[in-house]
Amino acid sequence: MSKVLIIEDEVAIADLEKDYLELSGFDVEIENNGNQGLLRALKEDFDMYILDLMLPGVDGFEICKKIRESKNTPILMVSAKKDDIDKIRGLGLGADDYITKPFSPSELVARVKAHLSRYERLINSTMQENDVIEIRGLKIDKTARRVWVNEEEKQFTTKEFDLLAFLAQNPNRVFSKEELFSKIWDLESVGDIATVTVHIKKIREKIEFSSTKPQYIETIWGVGYRFKV
Ligand code: CA
Repeated sequence: MSKVLIIEDEVAIADLEKDYLELSGFDVEIENNGNQGLLRALKEDFDMYILDLMLPGVDGFEICKKIRESKNTPILMVSAKKDDIDKIRGLGLGADDYITKPFSPSELVARVKAHLSRYERLINSTMQENDVIEIRGLKIDKTARRVWVNEEEKQFTTKEFDLLAFLAQNPNRVFSKEELFSKIWDLESVGDIATVTVHIKKIREKIEFSSTKPQYIETIWGVGYRFKV
């Protein structure tokens, strides 16, 4: 549920805004004083701020400026005078929208919804996608370190995962067991190339349909292994 903070000293207006936003499914908090409002706006996480301009304590101009120093959260500024809106714009405080009193509550709700969905799209587009390799039903999520075979998740130990991911991201290349051992196991590890053989066997049990005719990890006799794409 999206959280909205209303900073407004006129109690009747604040309550009206709250009622309408709650009816639309928002979680709404009110602060009637500029100082308190600013503290809360900076300290807590909200999805949107509705900010009155003239407030006891710190005014809306200052609150807007302070929020923008650390957050990209949408800010809708509310003003009693149309002239003030030009002033806000002129100051370039970073507010996303402006509305003058008196306004219809449904207009306010529509604007809040529009800004929230735009902001969510922006957040989603900047989120980094996981690094995923997908080959014929085998899906390896390198970021989350998870593996699926035909949509079914399989459990891998750390080294099994490292070995599979290494082979899959270097496809069609033959690696000797010595090379694989030195790449995946650190120098201090106890073990030898037989460790590689054991791990390949375990990986195949999890990802291959047939262990005698592997479709992903091929054995190149006398040389090593190759991941086939
Ligand atoms: Ca006011």
